[in-house]
Amino acid sequence: MTDRLRTVLLFGPPGAGKGTQGKLLGAIPGFVHMASGDIFRTLDRESRLGKKFVQYSSQGLLVPDEMTIEVWRDYVDRQIETQVYRPAFDLLVLDGIPRNVVQAEVMAGHVQVLRVIHLRPPGIDEMVVRLKGRALKEGRHDDADEAVIRRRFEVYEKETSPLLAYYDADMICDISALGSPAEVLQKILDAIVPIYSAHFANPLG
Ligand code: ADP
Repeated sequence: MTDRLRTVLLFGPPGAGKGTQGKLLGAIPGFVHMASGDIFRTLDRESRLGKKFVQYSSQGLLVPDEMTIEVWRDYVDRQIETQVYRPAFDLLVLDGIPRNVVQAEVMAGHVQVLRVIHLRPPGIDEMVVRLKGRALKEGRHDDADEAVIRRRFEVYEKETSPLLAYYDADMICDISALGSPAEVLQKILDAIVPIYSAHFANPLG
């Protein structure tokens, strides 16, 4: 396949609600949501890659770029093979990847980014509370410990937020992460439905 995958990026710090919004969007026919963290968490923890994932994520650090792209691309290919993701018909909603400029540069060969949805966070303290709540609910080893959470914010500021400058300013849509899930979803849909309509035929005919 030579065509690049038509993609919208969900962008924002841990706890901004990318996962919640991604799942909602992924429930809509014509949108396929992929979260890199979820993809990593499907790895067998006893496998070489699974062990490496836990080694980095339990410290709040990014997994090395080469492994990240490899695991992501393998996953994409499997989704295409099983027709869960049909690139001719589906807008790809990526969440958590790319996470730094190097990943974005490599991925530019695979994806055509049509829009970047930047979920702007309320404030770090509010998000630490959100993440701790999630850790209790979902058993996430990287969210239970406040020091690890704070490290993830530092990594976001240092490695991920510079990505915003990598994309053209007119491609970025800033949305406050403060509202209810329904309010935030409405704003995201306002931003991406026109893009979807411009690039894809209606899947329901
Ligand atoms: P959150 O959105 O809460 O930060 P994720 O579920 O997206 O968490 O990711 C969990 C962990 O998986 C990250 O802390 C990191 O170790 C690893 N990870 C996920 N995506 C990437 C990526 N694109 N590059 C490197 N590491 C990643």
